Amino acid sequence: MNLDTKIEKIKGVGVKSAEQFATAGIETTGDLVDFLPRAYEDYSQVTKILGVKPGKVTIKARCEKISTRPVRRGLRITTATLADSSGKLQAVWFNQPYRETQLKSGQEFYFSGIFEFNYNRYQLTNPSAERVSDMPVQTDRILPIYRSIKGLKSNLVRKIVAELKPLITMLLETLPDSIIVREKLMSRSQALLAMHFPENIDQIEIARERLAFEELFQLLLASQLNRQENAKLTGWHIPFEQPVVANFVKQLPFKLTTAQRVAAWQIIQDLDSKTPMNRLLQGDVGSGKTVVAGLVACQVAHFGFQTAVMAPTEILANQHAETISKLLEPLGVSVGLLTGSVKGSARKELYKQIATGSVQVIVGTHALIQDTVKFHKLGFVIVDEQHRFGVDQRQQLLKKSEHMPHMLAMTATPIPRSLALTVYGELDISILDELPTGRKPIITKTWSPNSRTQLYQLVDLELSSGRQAYVVCTLIEDNPDNEIKSVQTEYKKLQNSIFKHRRIGLLHGKLKPAEKAEVMQQFSDGKLDILVSTTVVEVGVDVSNATVIVIENADRFGLSQLHQLRGRVGRSVHQSYCYLIASTSAKPTRRLREIEKSNDGFYLAEVDLRLRGPGEIYGRVQHGALNLQIATLADAKLIARAQKQAKLFVTENLNLLQYKQLAAQVKYYQRLTTLN
Ligand code: ADP
Ligand code: MG
Repeated sequence: MNLDTKIEKIKGVGVKSAEQFATAGIETTGDLVDFLPRAYEDYSQVTKILGVKPGKVTIKARCEKISTRPVRRGLRITTATLADSSGKLQAVWFNQPYRETQLKSGQEFYFSGIFEFNYNRYQLTNPSAERVSDMPVQTDRILPIYRSIKGLKSNLVRKIVAELKPLITMLLETLPDSIIVREKLMSRSQALLAMHFPENIDQIEIARERLAFEELFQLLLASQLNRQENAKLTGWHIPFEQPVVANFVKQLPFKLTTAQRVAAWQIIQDLDSKTPMNRLLQGDVGSGKTVVAGLVACQVAHFGFQTAVMAPTEILANQHAETISKLLEPLGVSVGLLTGSVKGSARKELYKQIATGSVQVIVGTHALIQDTVKFHKLGFVIVDEQHRFGVDQRQQLLKKSEHMPHMLAMTATPIPRSLALTVYGELDISILDELPTGRKPIITKTWSPNSRTQLYQLVDLELSSGRQAYVVCTLIEDNPDNEIKSVQTEYKKLQNSIFKHRRIGLLHGKLKPAEKAEVMQQFSDGKLDILVSTTVVEVGVDVSNATVIVIENADRFGLSQLHQLRGRVGRSVHQSYCYLIASTSAKPTRRLREIEKSNDGFYLAEVDLRLRGPGEIYGRVQHGALNLQIATLADAKLIARAQKQAKLFVTENLNLLQYKQLAAQVKYYQRLTTLN
């Protein structure tokens, strides 16, 4: 038996169960070895009911009485009386009505859960239940819990995995020995044995660390190798032309910040070399990334190259086209806009201009990556709010040039260092850590829903002094199942009563692109006082006269998202306000307290990473594809260790091909994360 052996060959697996395993992607013994338990139950510590203390407990009991009742819409509570020879206790499950059928048999079960004081009594909350007769022979051990596979009893899965024990014992090492020694890691085979057949809880942790290290190491090594490969490519050479830059800066209505100058200079130097640039421009909301992009595009155009600027939404593409043409057209650089709304002959004409090079900067949405778009000489690609795009979308745009174009990815979502290393490992990073002068910190305050009237008076005061406001709701229409605010209802409510005397606009994703553009234009021209909007304004929208943002059901948003939304204000010298309305009058959540006290996007991103994991920060598309089994990208310490070893691996010039399995996985990650 080896790792490629078909699963049918394992004792106990029939044609039928093989089919069921296949639905979970398990076809070979190797797949099954990698199918790691998602949790463990500790049956080495079974307690008599009489001796149960608050906290995590496991008991061996029968169910005496069980019933389910609906409490409110969306919540059903199942209560049961559990008994052993020493006494009885109560268990509850939320929304698990199937427990009734499962437990009515009168058989003996192991129940494992938290024994706690809740609803005026001590009870076992949401315990797991495993039939005693289903358990392996020696039950006084730590039991692995596998992700359930339809049609397969969990105990059968455990039995079949147990058949692989001899094979796992003989598995070869996948990491270089030098790394195992330096990092004091468990061997691969030991780690997998500990995961599938644990003897104690501590061992599981060490095993998990070893396997997580391996995943991170592969990922980091992939980005090191991509970096090396990128360095071998030849790109366009675009030299520094001082007068062009000076001319651009001279016509700006403001002075560039030091951070903007430094970033622009780093980019310009990259362009002045033969290797294509791969750079990430990170700057907190409102730090002025667009003008940096404009400056570079200006110099790129001077040498006869085109720049493509890709934005995630049509609203943002429109806005960029406007900002960038204001910056560049006076200097004789022509700017075009390509979105889904540009149709028919206008679109054909634009294609022609792009293909002949008569338009030099092309701003657009995903429309830019379509096959029909042919560039004359694409030298520079800017991807704004890059976490909104998948790697493949960026790659497609980069492919539209004869040589690899220079690439600048921009993001307003500050990326914690651990993530920057893993996911953006092959990018150089520039940071705008400074806001333009004269900006006052935004005042952020959480309001209880009962005090809305008072809050609206404050908003009205701002409007009276000529400023504008956003009101953000999650939903477009009301949903009878919850009390979450919708833009349509809020819009009507505000327009018909409190803000009768104000001009209000409505913006959401279901409007036609032209309607969206129209409303956005009116708001940015100051023809509307209030914009009631869904999160379509979350990123990038820049209306500097808006100084108030009210966010309804604020507790439902992630921290980074709240920070982005808040960034719609505070874009001028005027004092700005962010008012968060909680869904209930209960005390504010941790997230709301954090956002109230800090305006620092980097700090908030770190907190968000800890509270919610990385998905939020760097885009679902990539996160899903990486498909990390064990490692989490929030584990900064382990990432730092893996990074160190990946660097050593490259500098020591070890031959990757010597490590077959490692090489295969690294190749896979390389393909996934590369920009070339
Ligand atoms: P972001 O980094 O969030 O994309 P923008 O590029 O939209 O920020 O810039 C935010 C606002 O700040 C814009 O209205 C822009 O004109 C203005 N701005 C940019 N740089 C400066 C500066 N150095 N001084 C004053 N205002 C600036
Ligand atoms: Mg922006």
